[in-house]
Amino acid sequence: NRKRANDYVHEVYELVRKRNPDEKEFLQATREIFDSLRPVFAKHPEYIRNGILERITEPERIISFRVAWEDDKGKVHVNRGFRVQFNSDLGPYKGGIRFHPSVNSSIMKFLAFEQIFKNALTGQPIGAGKGGSDFDPKGKSEREIMRFTQSFMTELSKHIGPDIDVPAGDIGVGKREIGYMFGQYNRLKGGYEAGVFTGKDPNHGGSLGRKEATGYGTVYFVEEMLNEHNLSFKDSTVIVSGSGNVSTYAIEKAQQLGAKVVACSDSSGYIYDKNGIDLNTVKRLKEVEQKRIWEYTKEHPEAEYYDNCSDIWSIPCDIALPCATQNEIDEMAAHILIANGLKALGEGANMPCTIEAIDIFLENGVLFAPAKAANAGGVAVSAMEMSQNSMRLGWTSEEVDERLKTVMSNIYESCKSAAEQYGEPDNLVMGANIAGFLKVADAMVAHGIR
Ligand code: GLU
Repeated sequence: NRKRANDYVHEVYELVRKRNPDEKEFLQATREIFDSLRPVFAKHPEYIRNGILERITEPERIISFRVAWEDDKGKVHVNRGFRVQFNSDLGPYKGGIRFHPSVNSSIMKFLAFEQIFKNALTGQPIGAGKGGSDFDPKGKSEREIMRFTQSFMTELSKHIGPDIDVPAGDIGVGKREIGYMFGQYNRLKGGYEAGVFTGKDPNHGGSLGRKEATGYGTVYFVEEMLNEHNLSFKDSTVIVSGSGNVSTYAIEKAQQLGAKVVACSDSSGYIYDKNGIDLNTVKRLKEVEQKRIWEYTKEHPEAEYYDNCSDIWSIPCDIALPCATQNEIDEMAAHILIANGLKALGEGANMPCTIEAIDIFLENGVLFAPAKAANAGGVAVSAMEMSQNSMRLGWTSEEVDERLKTVMSNIYESCKSAAEQYGEPDNLVMGANIAGFLKVADAMVAHGIR
């Protein structure tokens, strides 16, 4: 059985590689999953018989479209829009929309693929998708953003709906962009379909606690992992990369739990404040004034700014929370973090560590919380927003936070128990991949070959 399972995994990986030769991020994400799943196929030959791996690695549908828009000077621009509808065995496609110049089909597919397992782990009835555009919101005016998002939604609206595909935000897409897209969708549909988008403003249809959910959830998950090893955020030194939605609320929760967060970053560089980051300043700069992070040093002259964001990992810390973007921690950064005494790492961003970096952390006994599990709080509260929209009511922040805590603790338990069951109790990467996979695979068997 072991040999048959290994051959099967190898064979399908070769197929995926042949079919997607240039998609480096997508191949990275599939390779990581495949490595974890070998023992599962040895135990469950029915998954081989049902061709689960061949099917789960091919998106149900990929929509790629032209997004033309006019800038403030009347010049016409064309960007590329995507929606990858990867898997709908657990519910309507669900996943964010990313606006960033790096967006291409490989990035979209890796994100949508990760979303399959993440969404399954939440225990909520949601399938998996991801969308976005190579549009760069940086330096664009409010009106340019509006025109672009309306043009983007004019096409995307044909493919989504509250029971079909429910997008949300991601890098470059926050409540403002979601508001414009939601408005345009309803305008085109001639109705008010509250459940078509999550991450909406809580004043009009959004869930309280959604904004905080990814960052808070990551810290809740990491705290569970730490507690199990008699450690905690209390009195620890923490580095959080990024300064967007995920980072801001990861910093907030870590500070509430008694940690000292000494650094955060944006795509231009990082700040180091040995006294601990003043989060009010970061929030004002990033959420209200849309400024760069270096401006922090204007108000806090004791803080230092460095214009190389990847060097943030050279600051000694007990806990690292990469919350910026994919592949921000490579082998070298991993070695430096370990040499400086790193005890735990929680992935707030999607796939922020390379496969080599993850191996190094695991080999060196660093407690490692993988993104699919650790950052699932965001999409979990999105699913709660869908519930509230269906019921036409709203829960309080306290209620949402309680539910989020329960979800994160359940996710931790399922990762832990899958890891134990498959013989590697401290390997939550394997645990998360297996626990998420089993849930989807069972649904795929039940729904027949399609
Ligand atoms: N973009 C987020 C993620 O990576 C959230 C998706 C959602 O809320 O649908 O999970």
